[in-house]
Amino acid sequence: MKVPISLLARGYTLHMAWFVYVLHFDRPDAGGSQHYVGMTQDVSRRLQNHQDGVLSTYVHNAVRAGRTFELVGWWRVPDDREARKVEKRAKTLARFLCPHCSPAVAAYRRLQATGSAVPPPPVELTEAA
Ligand SMILES: [Zn+2]
Repeated sequence: MKVPISLLARGYTLHMAWFVYVLHFDRPDAGGSQHYVGMTQDVSRRLQNHQDGVLSTYVHNAVRAGRTFELVGWWRVPDDREARKVEKRAKTLARFLCPHCSPAVAAYRRLQATGSAVPPPPVELTEAA
């Protein structure tokens, strides 16, 4: 996204949302890790950079080793400060956020895809006879 210089010169600042994202690799690294968590303001550009080996030594080495990755989740956060917090938490939780590694996430995504991921109607409790 390009912002006209004239706007910046007049003191306008650019507020773009931040995203925290999770990559799932087709196979684990030597330490058994199969995910990468990062933060960015432009997810598609970041993915291209990862693919090109421009960003992150970890992803660069993984791609060079022939491992492939897939974007399995991303979350919009209001600012970079929040993004750092969410990123930190997501690093420890990545496998629980990934549809390939967590059956519950996969099931929820399937429901979302069918439009059924709405909470069920409240259950009426009746006294056992
Ligand atoms: Zn995974």
